[in-house]
Amino acid sequence: RTIAELVEGALRDIPDFPAPGVLFKDITPLLADPTAFAAVIADMAARHRAVQLVAGVEARGFVIGAALAHALGVGFIPVRKAGKLPGRTASLSYDLEYGSATIEVHADDIPGGARVLLVDDVLATGGTAVAAWDLLESVGAEVTGFEVIIELAALGGRERLAGRDVHALLTV
Ligand code: 5GP
Repeated sequence: RTIAELVEGALRDIPDFPAPGVLFKDITPLLADPTAFAAVIADMAARHRAVQLVAGVEARGFVIGAALAHALGVGFIPVRKAGKLPGRTASLSYDLEYGSATIEVHADDIPGGARVLLVDDVLATGGTAVAAWDLLESVGAEVTGFEVIIELAALGGRERLAGRDVHALLTV
């Protein structure tokens, strides 16, 4: 089986979550399946042997990102929602469909020029990924790419990330 088939077989589709009309891709069955989880991490790791850090977006990006960092033998940087990180933070606000959101990182944990791989579970509109990428670069990181398990192609995230290295294990 290909990695895309493995991922597809390990997902659960949840209709009308978190709002009516949205078909939510639930990755928790994949995380609970040791074969699928390990295959996802190994597949991502094989493309990024030269990175110095992995950054993951709260909250599912923490799970994938921490496992990936461990597999690569590098450190992990959490990109968190505003107000959660206790130290000196850099922050970036971005627009959502309704309202806005702010994300933060601990700038002191990222050496200048560090090659950082960004990861999340799902690429939808790309708003979260662009914000996290730009936030990491604002503190001096060199973001080398963005890895996701699932890309929801109809929402245009790849176009929004044009010119940046984006890889999805499954595109739907
Ligand atoms: P975007 O900013 O690209 O529109 O949305 C991506 C963010 O929303 C990611 O952090 C992702 O975790 C979350 N997200 C959006 N849609 C889904 C979905 O169907 N399933 C999951 N698991 N996360 C989603």
